[in-house]
Amino acid sequence: CGVFGIYAPGEDVAKLTYFGLYALQHRGQESAGIATFEGTTVHLHKDMGLVSQVFNESVLQELPGNLAVGHTRYSTTGSSRKVNAQPAVVESRLGKLALAHNGNLVNTVQLREELLQSQCNLVTTTDSEMIAFAIAEEVNAGANWVDGCIQACRRCQGAFSLVIGTPDGVMGVRDPNGIRPLVIGILAGEPDRYVLASETCGLDIIGAEYLRDVQPGELVWINEEGLTSIQWQQQSQRKLCIFEMIYFARPDSLMHEETLYSYRMRLGRRLAAESAVEADLVFGVPDSGIPAAIGFSQASGVAYGEGLIKNRYVGRTFIQPTQTMRESGLRMKLNPLKDVLAGKRVVIVDDSIVRGTTSRKLVKTLREAGAVEVHMRISSPPVTHPCFYGIDTDTQDQLIAATKSVADIAKQLEVDSLAYLSWEGMLEATREDTNSFCSACFTGDYPVAIPEQVKRSKLI
Ligand code: 5GP
Ligand code: SF4
Ligand code: MG
Repeated sequence: CGVFGIYAPGEDVAKLTYFGLYALQHRGQESAGIATFEGTTVHLHKDMGLVSQVFNESVLQELPGNLAVGHTRYSTTGSSRKVNAQPAVVESRLGKLALAHNGNLVNTVQLREELLQSQCNLVTTTDSEMIAFAIAEEVNAGANWVDGCIQACRRCQGAFSLVIGTPDGVMGVRDPNGIRPLVIGILAGEPDRYVLASETCGLDIIGAEYLRDVQPGELVWINEEGLTSIQWQQQSQRKLCIFEMIYFARPDSLMHEETLYSYRMRLGRRLAAESAVEADLVFGVPDSGIPAAIGFSQASGVAYGEGLIKNRYVGRTFIQPTQTMRESGLRMKLNPLKDVLAGKRVVIVDDSIVRGTTSRKLVKTLREAGAVEVHMRISSPPVTHPCFYGIDTDTQDQLIAATKSVADIAKQLEVDSLAYLSWEGMLEATREDTNSFCSACFTGDYPVAIPEQVKRSKLI
């Protein structure tokens, strides 16, 4: 999901949030929502669909206020329905709060029981609403906004980057491992006007300047007095999701002081160094495979070009909920350049293979278009384990590499050769401490323990 928050009295906060969400659309295409606070009054609009479908000028005009939070959703828990759209708005002793969540809690069963015992009226099936109710519960028991939020966060396990609007200010929070990203920006020319967004591309679009990341285990409180930081949990270990870096986040977003485009090019260079192949042309699967394909070309000397053209107006295939939709989505999406491919030995680079359905179809498409050899190179290791922290990689039995060797996958995809980047290669290319990432979908080494019953729901 994508989350956004802004505190800026005197500005059109709804419109700024709209633009922020527009830049974060890739993080979720199922539903979108904005809540604004005008004193203690909350104005909320949310619905199924893309940001541009959910909002228009007249809807935005109905959302006045001093501060706003916004959300773009892609469902990992809870079904794909309008009631599950965010922000979640919940009543408390101090007024309403509006919460936008990115990530996945792993202790929802326990949290749900606790909340139901205290007569809480859960209306949805999402973990995000549970966090909102937990905060309200702490506030109702006497806590202020910040303490209430901290106490609620201590009851949560898993991945959570939160943006929370209240009548008094906006909070931004990251879980102690910092699994999902969250950044702070400053509105241009207004030193005390802060913005929160999942990624820096959500700041760029409104001309806000990137200040820094919200730290793992940090809460920032933004109000009339500016920004206050509280380290609510000492960070045991940082565990940023490596999939954010290799695939999920936008290539123009900054992580560790460089664009992910640069990081992904480096993955491609490393991939070429590990598994070069003689060929006439290398190209990426648009859009996510392109930076790595450029890097692969640079390091291998194989000419870079385009082999597939993407219709940019079709959403990411994998975010659509059903397999049938996914398959028809794919046909709508990529078209081969026949005269470019005819007679060529090609290297096709992608960021990952998850189920293998995209890749298998693409290989077939390329051969039909006249490619004589198809070599596939993947800029991450085989995905063998499901994610429990907010990326929808499905159950383990759906993952092609969970049960098949690379040689068997190559056979199934009908490629002339297949190679994945090594795990070390992927982590070394980050130039960060290799322990500071979650890479559980490649190793099964989950940094936040998964309760047995949750594990059983997804593991073979
Ligand atoms: P597949 O070949 O597994 O069907 O699809 C792999 C392609 O889809 C890659 O281009 C990748 O960008 C994208 N993709 C599809 N589903 C997922 C997913 O659940 N997680 C990630 N990280 N990428 C996915
Ligand atoms: Fe990211 Fe994979 Fe860890 Fe999930 S399991 S948080 S997708 S690295
Ligand atoms: Mg892709």
